[in-house]
Amino acid sequence: MTTITQAKILVIDDTPANIALLGAALEEDYIIQIATSGAKGLSLAEADPPDLVLLDIMMPDMDGYETCKQFKADPKLREVPIIFVTALQEKQAELQGLTLGAADYLTKPINIDIARLRIHNLLEREFLRREIQLREAEQRLAASVFANTHDGIVITDADNVIIDVNNAFCRITGYQREEVIGKQPSLLKSGRHTVEFYVGLWRGILLNGHWSGEIWNRKKNGDIYVALTSISLVRDEKGDIHHYIGLFADITSLKNHEYDLERVAHYDALTGVPNRVLLADRMSQALAQTKRSRKLMAVCYLDLDGFKIINDQYGHDAGDQLLIEISRRIKDCLRTGDTVARIGGDEFVLILQELNKESECDAILERMLLSVAEPVLIRGNKLGVSASLGFTLFPDDASDAETLMRHADQAMYVAKQSGKNRYHRFDPQLDRITLAHGELIAQIEMGLAQHEFELYFQPKVNMLTGDIIGNEALIRWNHPRRGLLPPMEFLPAINDTDLIIQLGDWVLVHALECQEIWVQQGINITISVNVAPRHLLQDNFVPQLKKHLAKHPTLNPSYLELEILETAALEDIGKVSAVMRECQKLGVSFALDDFGTGYSSLTYLKSLPAQTLKIDQSFIRDMLNDDEDLAIVEAIINLTQIFHRHVIAEGVESIVHGQKLLSLGCEYAQGYGIAKPMPFKEVVGWMEKWNQKYKLMFM
Ligand code: C2E
Ligand code: MG
Ligand code: MG
Repeated sequence: MTTITQAKILVIDDTPANIALLGAALEEDYIIQIATSGAKGLSLAEADPPDLVLLDIMMPDMDGYETCKQFKADPKLREVPIIFVTALQEKQAELQGLTLGAADYLTKPINIDIARLRIHNLLEREFLRREIQLREAEQRLAASVFANTHDGIVITDADNVIIDVNNAFCRITGYQREEVIGKQPSLLKSGRHTVEFYVGLWRGILLNGHWSGEIWNRKKNGDIYVALTSISLVRDEKGDIHHYIGLFADITSLKNHEYDLERVAHYDALTGVPNRVLLADRMSQALAQTKRSRKLMAVCYLDLDGFKIINDQYGHDAGDQLLIEISRRIKDCLRTGDTVARIGGDEFVLILQELNKESECDAILERMLLSVAEPVLIRGNKLGVSASLGFTLFPDDASDAETLMRHADQAMYVAKQSGKNRYHRFDPQLDRITLAHGELIAQIEMGLAQHEFELYFQPKVNMLTGDIIGNEALIRWNHPRRGLLPPMEFLPAINDTDLIIQLGDWVLVHALECQEIWVQQGINITISVNVAPRHLLQDNFVPQLKKHLAKHPTLNPSYLELEILETAALEDIGKVSAVMRECQKLGVSFALDDFGTGYSSLTYLKSLPAQTLKIDQSFIRDMLNDDEDLAIVEAIINLTQIFHRHVIAEGVESIVHGQKLLSLGCEYAQGYGIAKPMPFKEVVGWMEKWNQKYKLMFM
C-alpha cells in the first residue's frame, strides 16, 4: 500500500499562477500532476487515478461542478476525494460543491499551511478508508473459505476452548456449532492414542508453532474416523498465544482402502497369516533384533504330511478348511513376537525369536507336532495330517535370510525322509564339511548317474506385447538328503573340473529333449542353456553340440541360445569369439549373461558376436533405489542400441521394475515378478495361464 508521502495529487486549474503556487507548495510532500482543464484532468485521472484531486470551480468549457460530477459518475474515480479550490466565497457555492460529493473546500487566496494540513488529513482518512476496505474484503474471503471449505476447521482460544467451528466440522463430527463452543477439542478423543501421542502433539505445536499428522477421533454418534489434521498456533503482536487453528480432513475411507491393500499385499487370503512378502520383512527385522539381543532365533519350515491326499479325496474346500484350522493351531503354539507365514499350498515358515537355548525351540516344535496331528472335524469327517518340520538356528548358522530358509527347507526334507511327523535341525557344520570336500564332487558324479538332476525353466517375456519369447534352462539337484539344491550349492565345486563338461552335456541333451516336446505341441520359442566357460572352451565343444543337434533334425538350431557369463567371455576373448562364430554357423545364438559385472568394454563387445546382453540382476534389483545402478542399466541399454544387440533384464521382481525398464527402452525381461523357475511339467500350464490372463494386460 502506498504511504501518504507517495500520494499522487491531481491539480485541475486553468489559472497558471494558482497552479504554480499550489504545486510548488505541495511538491515537497507529494507527487503533483497538473491539468489546465476539466477534460484534461478527467483523462489524466482515467489513465492513472490520483489519490486526491484539487479542483478549481471557475473554468471555461467545463466548470469544476461539472468536472466533479463526471468524476463521481466514473466507477473507477468515484472514490477519489476532491477538494474544491475557488475564489468564490458564497456559502451557496460551498454547499453546491459539497452536495456534489466534494470532500472539502479551500478558498483563494489559499493559506498554504491550512491547505497542507487539510490535504494531509484528508489523505490520511482516505488511506485509512482504503485499508478498512481491504481488510473487509480479506475478512469476507476468509469467512467464505471458513464456511465453504470441505475441511473441518476448529478455532480455540489461548486456553484451548473452542470459539468457533465451521460447517464442515459439524458435517464430519456430527456436532452442532452450539454444542461444541465453550468445550475443548478433546471431546473428540477416540481413546485410540496414548498419552504420549498427545504430549508429542502439544510439544510440536508449542515448539514449532505447528503439528500435523493423523488423529483417530470419535464422532458424536460414536463412530471412529481418521482425521488428517494440521494444528497451528497463532500469536499476537506481543508474542503471546492468541488462539489455535485446527484444520482436518476425514480420510477414513482412504485409510480403509489403504488397509485393504496392505492386507492383500501382506497377508495370505485364506488363512489370514502373513504371506511371503511380509515374511521377508519380518525376517530381516528378526535378524536385526537377534543380533542386538544376542539370543537365538529359529527359522522353521513346516510342510504338512498327507495334505495332498485330503485335498484329492475330500476336495479343495475341505483342504482349505483344514489349512485354516492348522494355521490357527500353529499360531496358538507360538509366543507373541513369533511369526508364522504361509508361503505355499501346505508350506509354512515360522520365525521363533528370543530363544535362550535350543531346547526352547524343541519344546515349541514338539507342542506344534502334537497339535497339528490332532484330527480335524470337517463336514462330519475326522481328517488327520501331520507336520514335517525343519529348522536352523541363527546365529549358529550365520547365513542370510534366504539361505536360512533354504537350510530350514533342507532340514524339513530330512524330517520327511526320516519318516515324517517329526522335526530335524539343520547342521551347518555338516553342511560345510560336505561342501568343502571332494566328497561333493563324488556325490555329484553319483547324482548324475542316478538321475538326481533336473532342469527347471524360467520364461522370458516381451513386456510390451506380452509375448513369451523363450525359456531358460536352470539346473537343480534333487539331493537325497539335502533336498532341492540350486546350482550355487554345487556348481562352484565342479566349475574347474571336467565334471562340469559332463554335467553341461547332460543339460544340453535334456534341454533339447524338452524343446522337442514343446515344438511338437506347437510351442516355438527359444530355449536358453547356460554354458560354463570350461565347457565352452574345451576343444570338443562344437562337434559335441553338432552331435546333440543332429539327434533332433526337426529342431531349428536358431531356437537354441547359449548363455555365457560376460566375465568368462573376457577371459580368453579370442578363443571364445571363435567358438561363438562356429556355433553361429550352425544357427545357434548367444547371450552374454550377468552383463555389467565384467568390463562391459566397447572394444570387447565389438569382437564378441553375442546377439543379446542380459543385464545382471543385481543392477536391476537395486536400480529403483540406487542411482549408480540405474545409470549402469541405462548405459547397457544404450550400448545395445548402438551395437544393434538385443537386451534383456534378469531379476525383474516387480511390476515397478518392469515399468522402469520399459521406460528405459528395455522390453525383454525375466524374473520372479513374471515367473520363478519351474519344473518342466509346469511350463505349458504356466504359458496357457499367462496367455489367457496376463497377455491381455499388455494389449
Ligand atoms: P543365471 O544364468 O544368471 O540365472 C539367473 C538366476 O537368477 C537363476 O538362479 C534364477 O533362478 C535367478 N533368478 C531369476 N529371476 C530372479 C529374480 O527375479 N530374483 C532373484 N533373486 N533371482 C532370480 P539359479 O537357477 O539359482 O542359477 C544360478 C546360476 O547358476 C545361473 O545364473 C547360472 O549362471 C548358473 N546355472 C544354472 N543352471 C546352469 C546350467 O545348467 N549350467 C551352468 N553351467 N550354469 C548354470
Ligand atoms: Mg543364465
Ligand atoms: Mg544371470
